[in-house]
Amino acid sequence: MSAPLAAAPSWPRSWYAASAHPWQPRPPLTGEAVTDVVVVGGGFTGLSAALELAERGYAVTLLEAARIGFGASGRNGGHIATAYNQSMATIERLVGREDAGHLWQLYEGAKALIAQRVARHRIDCDLHWGYLLAAVKPRHRGELARSLDEWRDRYGYPYGRLLDRDETRAMVDSPRYVGGLFDEGGGQLHPLNYALGLARAAEAAGVCLHEGSAVTAVTPGPQPVCETAEGRVRARVGVLLAGNAYLKSPLPAARRVMQGRIMPVGTYMVATAPLGAARANALIPADVPVADILFVLNYYRLSADRRLLFGGLVNYSGIDRAGLARRLRRTMVHYFPGLADVPVDYAWGGNVAITRNRLPHLGRLDQNILFAQGFSGNGVALTGMAGRVMAEALVAASTRFDVFARLPHGRFPGGPGLRVPALVLAMAWLRLKDLIG
Ligand SMILES: Cc1cc2nc3c(=O)[nH]c(=O)nc-3n(C[C@H](O)[C@H](O)[C@H](O)COP(=O)(O)OP(=O)(O)OC[C@H]3O[C@@H](n4cnc5c(N)ncnc54)[C@H](O)[C@@H]3O)c2cc1C
Repeated sequence: MSAPLAAAPSWPRSWYAASAHPWQPRPPLTGEAVTDVVVVGGGFTGLSAALELAERGYAVTLLEAARIGFGASGRNGGHIATAYNQSMATIERLVGREDAGHLWQLYEGAKALIAQRVARHRIDCDLHWGYLLAAVKPRHRGELARSLDEWRDRYGYPYGRLLDRDETRAMVDSPRYVGGLFDEGGGQLHPLNYALGLARAAEAAGVCLHEGSAVTAVTPGPQPVCETAEGRVRARVGVLLAGNAYLKSPLPAARRVMQGRIMPVGTYMVATAPLGAARANALIPADVPVADILFVLNYYRLSADRRLLFGGLVNYSGIDRAGLARRLRRTMVHYFPGLADVPVDYAWGGNVAITRNRLPHLGRLDQNILFAQGFSGNGVALTGMAGRVMAEALVAASTRFDVFARLPHGRFPGGPGLRVPALVLAMAWLRLKDLIG
């Protein structure tokens, strides 16, 4: 008999959940099944991989522990940022100029893939292009200029314009910024509706979606078997692990290879009450998402119903401390003193998976068990491509997957017990640099 679906965790209370398109829960996996590929995780990465494989004619079963978009994909800022969370110069040092070039193209391809899929599958997710990186301190202006030089001169990026203080203020009415970089190639979307749109597209292509179906074990072999509380599914071709920061490691090799190379980091968002069109337009006349470049960054944008969706704060201790929403609101008012009277209607948080070098971690646990994780805050763009190349690599040779898989990834120091305290200390130091630098 099926477990009652209500037992499966639903989305956290957030503005995204409140404004999600209607979604009927999908039934959990029960009994025995056979498919070509099992995808574990129903976020952007898993959905992208499932869609890709179904479009190539494979039978796909996607198992999601909770609800589609339950993880970071249904909670994030919705910012589509340009370029990795690491300088291209460092990437060149890590993997050489040629692979760095491929990685640049893959990132640009990831942004284009969002546009293609949204258009092709008519996904209603408020996708818009245009992005502002804001400088809080004079030294940030130099950093932005160096990034733009790198993107343009070495990688031929066609967009990007440096802004002085007044030009920045004309785009976002905050007294805190001393300059900015306007990027026509970045963008924004409603992440949960994008995830649900991908899920519908995947189903239309033949993917079997099961919610409330946490994979508790994966038995490797020529045809790996995934087990849930009430079902088992054998995968004739292979298994793709797309649980990222939320993955409850279902097989020992995952613990060995994947854990320790990512750190789940809490980040938080609030949504104000609707501001009304006039006030919202005066606040961010350019109507673009804005992120500063502090190490512990603040990021925000206007929603379709003219709320400010403001994100920030990182909690490396893994504990959701009380009062985070209050602190975040204080930061918001610091950037926008005029919002002091505006109530916050929603506050929520989620986990981002970061890697030590802030670059994504893709690889194989076995010839037919692949994974992708550790998008380090840039997953809105990167996950679509990661899912696609992981799918490609399972069924054919994929030089694109191999380029990602060649990125070297160290472990966070300290082992399971000490990793978090060590990171908390490192982050406290970097936060201090934000404040005094
Ligand atoms: C508050 C917040 C703000 C963010 N803002 C941005 C932003 O503005 N821009 C940006 O680029 N990135 C942002 N990110 C990061 C981005 O959301 C992630 O990189 C991206 O969504 C990761 O997608 P994913 O599919 O890999 O993982 P997830 O979306 O986390 O999906 C993983 C899924 O796997 C499921 N799962 C785990 N284990 C199992 C199992 N054993 N069996 C079955 N299912 C399982 C989970 O339930 C979950 O639904 C933000 C993240 C957060 C939390």
